Amino acid sequence: MAEESIFEDSPQEYFEKFFTNTGYCDAQSVLPHGDKYICHCTCGRWDVVADDQESGLDMAREHTREITERELAKLSR
Ligand SMILES: [Zn+2]
Repeated sequence: MAEESIFEDSPQEYFEKFFTNTGYCDAQSVLPHGDKYICHCTCGRWDVVADDQESGLDMAREHTREITERELAKLSR
């Protein structure tokens, strides 16, 4: 239960220890936390709370799509 209390005290710190932020959108995670889902991306710029797993995954797709479009826009300049 020690892990759970760390998680509840400070989700942000937990994630920073648990995940390596690469600065790139290499991987997104949607993890259950109580009755919510905490969503995180390895770029370290995306941390949101979703009501359910499906909307978390939708937001993850939306996040990577935004980043991809931004990168493509840079390339076409
Ligand atoms: Zn990202």
